[in-house]
Amino acid sequence: MDQGSIDALRYEKVAAQNMLIGGKAMPAESGSTLKVISPIDGCELSTIPDASVEDVELAVTAARSTFEAGKWAKHPPAARKKVLHKWADLIEANALELAVLGVRDNGTEISMAFKAEPMSAASTIRYYAEALDKVYGDIASTPHDVLGLIHSEPVGVVGAIIPWNFPLMIAAWKLGPALATGNSVVVKPAETASLSLLKMAQLAHEAGLPEGILNIVTGKGTVAGQALARSRDVDVLAFTGSGIVGRKLLEYSAQSNLKRVYLELGGKGPHIVFSDSQKLEEAAKAVVGGIFRNAGQVCVAGSRLLVQEDIHDEFVSHVAELTKAMKVGDPLKLDTQMGALNSSDHLGKVLGYLDQARKDGAEIVTGGNRTLEDSGGYYVEPTVIDNVSPNNSLFQEEIFGPVLTVTPFKDETEAIALANNSNLGLASGVWTDDLSRTHRMIAAIKTGVVHVNTYGGADGTVPLGGHKQSGNGHDKSLYAFEKFTNKKTAWIKL
Ligand code: NAD
Repeated sequence: MDQGSIDALRYEKVAAQNMLIGGKAMPAESGSTLKVISPIDGCELSTIPDASVEDVELAVTAARSTFEAGKWAKHPPAARKKVLHKWADLIEANALELAVLGVRDNGTEISMAFKAEPMSAASTIRYYAEALDKVYGDIASTPHDVLGLIHSEPVGVVGAIIPWNFPLMIAAWKLGPALATGNSVVVKPAETASLSLLKMAQLAHEAGLPEGILNIVTGKGTVAGQALARSRDVDVLAFTGSGIVGRKLLEYSAQSNLKRVYLELGGKGPHIVFSDSQKLEEAAKAVVGGIFRNAGQVCVAGSRLLVQEDIHDEFVSHVAELTKAMKVGDPLKLDTQMGALNSSDHLGKVLGYLDQARKDGAEIVTGGNRTLEDSGGYYVEPTVIDNVSPNNSLFQEEIFGPVLTVTPFKDETEAIALANNSNLGLASGVWTDDLSRTHRMIAAIKTGVVHVNTYGGADGTVPLGGHKQSGNGHDKSLYAFEKFTNKKTAWIKL
């Protein structure tokens, strides 16, 4: 990846988009569209179909009929594996185009997006392609005159609803295990990040995925997303996004067909630094990277720095220095370290938190304002706010922006209490050189992932799932197969 090749792609005209339903490129039946606005400059980039309930039903019907016809589920595993590998190859071959298109749509800095989006999606698809013929059923321990077989079967039709922060990576977390196990899928990407996923889905067909197995519907969450979640013909719904929408999805399931609903929701990651750590320089860099990558629009972001009080002043001033030195701006420049917020609505939400913080007399160490307004884009300065009390909304609510709060602690007991003082429990980080403390902290912190002496970077071999109100179920790793399969027992009298 070099700047010249990025620049060659960044101004390409993006045609009005179609959905992918039953293998065909389809507009909304009504012809209705939504404007796609680039967060880089606030200008119109393209349009996507604004799907109606009927459009979504068409996609679900396509998925159901291809599933029942066994067009994919009954493919031999080796054939499914070949298609998925080919798809991963094509994603890699088109990685730069996918990444640039995605960045124009959602604003993530390209240095991160290239790896985190197409390359990560390809490796996820490949992981499940490789795994699909290496999982076995079970034979139960039964009396000698009975045979108890436990099969895993595809659930049928999977609905996936995806957010805007990492549309390819997160879609692949659902698509990899769902397709590997033989399901048909309907995906609804976010209104403000659909373009790269539409392109990645076309590549699946080039790779030989039969028509109708992977369907993409675009449009509003409240219409298209809701229709998918309420469909009586969707067996499992896999969601990543906000807690507010997650709650609604559980209601829709209860009001329709009791489909299983898997929720990957927000986080408020505590990033804990003990003064016994000999790696404080590394820790400071990880704290900065852990919150400001993708402008803080990361579910596992370490948004609450908890730092031991004897190193508080020095550590925070170093974090602030590193923060001030960050290059913020055009996400399509290779040296940009923090790009744009995803939409003007989201910009407004993040600025709202900062305005309130100022009114409340918050100690803003650096940042706190919108920046590069002349560009027309949605940029906010990376912001550090010191001495934030656990009762403050800045400490409790997921801002999902470039805002790091700092709270000092006295000892391990207080660090644990502060870390767990949240309804959310997705990810956390601990910096310490004390092995016993490491294990005590891993056991005590109520998050699905605990990073030790690093932050972020947990790859596809390990599960990602929220504790508390950060969700249920797991993306990534072999555990994700459980979401998209049903167990079936055969009890055979011999
Ligand atoms: P969101 O939950 O509003 O949207 C996520 C997806 O759900 C989108 O595709 C959207 O169209 C769809 N949706 C919205 N309303 C729906 C409904 N009633 N029924 C069905 N689908 C619906 O999240 P967002 O607007 O993308 O971001 C807002 C907040 O979500 C953030 O502030 C953050 O808290 C959280 N978030 C978390 C993650 C994560 O990875 N855990 C990612 C993105 C956003």
